[in-house]
Amino acid sequence: MKEIMLISGGTLIDGTGKDPRPNEGIFIEGNQIVSVEESTSQLINSDKNVEIVELDASGKTIMPGLIDSHLHCSFDDVQSNDELFFHRDPTLVALVAAQNLRKMLRAGVTSFVDPDTSHGIGPSLRDAVNAGVVQGPRIKTGVQALLTAVGGTAGRLIPDEGTVGYAQIVNSKDEIVQWVRRHIKYGADWIKLHATGSVPGRSGELLVWNREEIRVACQTAHELSVPVMAHCRGTQSVQICAEEGVDLILHASFMDDDGLEAVISNGSSICPTFTFLANLADFGSKVQASPGMEDIFRGEIEQTAKMIRKAYDNGVRILSGSESGFALTPYGHWHGRELEIFVDSLDLTPIEAITTATKNGAWAMQMEDQLGTIEKNKLADIIIVDSDPTADITVLNNKNEISEVIANGKRLNLSELWPDREPLAGWKVGNWANEILTWEKAYSS
Ligand SMILES: [Zn+2]
Repeated sequence: MKEIMLISGGTLIDGTGKDPRPNEGIFIEGNQIVSVEESTSQLINSDKNVEIVELDASGKTIMPGLIDSHLHCSFDDVQSNDELFFHRDPTLVALVAAQNLRKMLRAGVTSFVDPDTSHGIGPSLRDAVNAGVVQGPRIKTGVQALLTAVGGTAGRLIPDEGTVGYAQIVNSKDEIVQWVRRHIKYGADWIKLHATGSVPGRSGELLVWNREEIRVACQTAHELSVPVMAHCRGTQSVQICAEEGVDLILHASFMDDDGLEAVISNGSSICPTFTFLANLADFGSKVQASPGMEDIFRGEIEQTAKMIRKAYDNGVRILSGSESGFALTPYGHWHGRELEIFVDSLDLTPIEAITTATKNGAWAMQMEDQLGTIEKNKLADIIIVDSDPTADITVLNNKNEISEVIANGKRLNLSELWPDREPLAGWKVGNWANEILTWEKAYSS
C-alpha cells in the first residue's frame, strides 16, 4: 500500500509570485509533490491501494519552505571577530553547527546558502545532512572566503597569508587559481570573494581586489561550472564585480547607476542582506552593540534600498538573506526579517517579498527545477503558517506562527527542533566588561 500525504484546506501561496489561492489540495508521495489540485475528491477515491494521510490546514497558509540565501551556519551566533577567528576548535564547530541546523528547520528554513565556513566545514556538513547523519535544511556552501592580504571585515586580525577561520588569503593571480580549484575539489558549490574590506583609520569598506584578480577568480570557477559570489559594500565594487562575471552580489551597498547597469548586463543577482544592519540599527542598544553605528547603518539601508528597488524594477533577481550566525542575527530568529524590510523599504508586496525567499532562492541553491515553489514534480519542502503573511509579513519571522514544517516530504516534530545546551568550555571569549570603569563612572550616582 502506498502512502500519500494530502495537505487540504488552507490558502496556498505557491512561491511563484502568483496570488494566494484557497482550498487547494497538495499531494505528496515520498519526497515529491505529485499533484496540486483544486478538487481533491477524485484523486482520493480513484485508487484502493493508496492510503491518504490527511493534514488539515484549514484557516492557515501553505507555502514553500523558506530559502535563506545568505547565512553562516558555522559561526554560532558569534560576538566578536577575535572569538570567530581564534577561539573555535574545528571539531566543536562542526558539532555545534549540526545542532544549530535544527533551529533553522524549526523556523521554517528548509534550504540555505552559506558563502564561507569556519575551518571550511561547509561541504562536510552538507554531505552529512544529505546522508541523514545529521538533521538540517538542504545546504549549498562555499569552503572559505577568498581574501586579499588587505583583509575583509576583521581588520588586522587577517594574516598576510595562509588560512584562518573562514578566510583563505590569496596574494597573487596564481594563488587565486590554486585556491578556487582547491575549494572546488573540496566540494564548494559557490566560490566567495571578499571584494571589499575595512582598513583601520579609513572610513567605509574599500575595494581590496583589482579587476584582473576578480576576473581570474570568475574565469577559473566558471570553467568548472561553479558560480561566484562577492561581498560588495562599496559603489565601485558592485560595478567591477558584475563586469568581471560575479554571479551573485552580496549587500550591493551604495550601488550606483553604473553598477546597476553592469549587474543588469551581466545577469548578476543581488542578495542585499539588510537584516544584520537593520537589527543593529533597531535593536542594537538592547544588546550593547557598537554604539554610534545605528544611524550609519540606517543610512546605508535607506540609500541602498532605493537602488535595489530600481534593480528589482529592471528584472534583477533579488534574494532574501539573513546573515544568521552572529550575535545580532542568531539562528532560528531572523530568517523572515529580510522580507519585512523588503516590504517596508523596497515597497514590495508581501507576495513579491516571499518570492525572494522561495522561487528566487532556488536559483541560489542551483535547484530551480526542483525547489522553491509548490508545483507538481517539485521536492516537498513546505511550511504551514497559522496566520496570513500577506496581511502581516512579520509572521514569517516568528517561529511560533509556523505550525508545520515538511522537509523533503517528511513532517518534522517541531518540539525536537529547538535544542538547549550548557556553556561549552573555551568556546566564548570572556569580556572583562562592556564599558570602561572610570573613577567617575564608579562613583557617579
Ligand atoms: Zn555574510
